Amino acid sequence: MLKNIKSLFLLTALLIGTPYTWAVTSASSNEIKAFCKDLSKKLRTIKYQGCLDLGLQISTSQSVEGRPLTYREYIPETIESVPKRPKGRILFLSGIHGDEYSSISITYLWMLAMLKHPESTGQHWLFLPLANPDGLLGQKPATRMNARGVDLNRNFPSPDWEQLALPYWERFYRKNKRRYPGPAPASEPETQWLVKTIERFKPDAIISVHAPYGLIDYDGPEHATPDSIGSLKHKELGTYPGSLGRYAGEYLNVPVLTLELHAAGTMPTEKEIYNIWQDIEKWAELKLKRKETDF
Ligand SMILES: [Zn+2]
Repeated sequence: MLKNIKSLFLLTALLIGTPYTWAVTSASSNEIKAFCKDLSKKLRTIKYQGCLDLGLQISTSQSVEGRPLTYREYIPETIESVPKRPKGRILFLSGIHGDEYSSISITYLWMLAMLKHPESTGQHWLFLPLANPDGLLGQKPATRMNARGVDLNRNFPSPDWEQLALPYWERFYRKNKRRYPGPAPASEPETQWLVKTIERFKPDAIISVHAPYGLIDYDGPEHATPDSIGSLKHKELGTYPGSLGRYAGEYLNVPVLTLELHAAGTMPTEKEIYNIWQDIEKWAELKLKRKETDF
């Protein structure tokens, strides 16, 4: 299964787009076209047609500045060639920090690869490829925070938020603007959308891509503790009030795998992009406990 995707990982082909066409309803197609246009202007790895080919869906929630919050599901049941077998539900997030370009670009490449080779996965994936569109597209240069200056990765409603988030920001971060947790837990529409998505999708694991610390971090139950992923080694960073790791990993007890790519402005090599994905698939195959209902 894993080696199937290797030959398909022709990134050169992906970079110039794919021959797929998707029947996007006209109601949302103009919005998706505008979104893909903005995105392809901002990130050179992402091509306009390739973005359109992804068949992104638009959620009913919007960002602070009214940009679409997009998602794409890959469901193996719909593919005849995939044998019935236990599978996990994996929520894949990127672009929660708008200025981490490589993490957003690499997610699009993986999504395109999955589109071309849906047989390569036995998991049910839900991708949210750009969780903070205003941070990436709303300002020049792009910002880590959303349009109201909130670090969305400190805005999740962990039970300790009310008591700790703002004092921690004041004392530990000395009010660093890049780490502002917001005025209240889940005060931001983007965070509310992420929380709602987690509640509805009930993931067996969450994978979140960031840059530029060059490591993997993990929060959640012991059984899914990762080894290395590509060249990224496991290093515990700890969690913070309002971070995804504290909210979903520690509070909801969902495995949260955080990838920190080596650089925010430079993509990993083609081989590394492939190796990381292969190790993510291995991790999902070997480490995630299947729920009875998924059989
Ligand atoms: Zn980040």
